Amino acid sequence: MELKHLMVPTDFSKFSDLAIRYASFLAKSFNARLTLLHVLTVSEVNALTSQPGNPWENVVEEFNNRMYEEFLDNTIDKEAITVNFEVAVGDPAEEIAKFAENNDVDMLVMGTHGRTGLASIFLGSVTVGVIKRTCVPVTVVKCFEALKE
Ligand code: ATP
Ligand code: MN
Repeated sequence: MELKHLMVPTDFSKFSDLAIRYASFLAKSFNARLTLLHVLTVSEVNALTSQPGNPWENVVEEFNNRMYEEFLDNTIDKEAITVNFEVAVGDPAEEIAKFAENNDVDMLVMGTHGRTGLASIFLGSVTVGVIKRTCVPVTVVKCFEALKE
């Protein structure tokens, strides 16, 4: 067993921020590389690319930049970590699980909740869907107090 490739699927919520903070700490501790992945649904892609002057390449660049910003905002020792950014299209849980299986991901780190963030629901649907679909271990972060520096 190895812990060489960590992945955080992000929806740019405060829970994703928290997941990145924890994954960056793990990546540094285990000398692992880190992948951030954002999944756009087909309808989101259609809405974005139908705007004038916004071809698919621009959309990818915009989300890569957003992931880079989120990484910078939530990582103390940036230089110590090898990070890369990926954008996928489709059902979020399906795409996250597929990416993890196809890219030798050793552990996923994600939030209990995301952009919707309804605390009354035990776990968000994307997190549940990923756990259902993959054998890759999933670390789920919930509490902000738990990640004090
Ligand atoms: P729901 O979407 O079911 O209404 P929610 O938004 O509160 O509820 P999830 O969407 O399951 O909860 O989010 C949980 C975690 O899943 C997030 O913290 C993030 O790590 C990941 N995630 C959610 N959506 C995406 C996405 N589109 N791309 C990548 N990661 C995602
Ligand atoms: Mn969500």
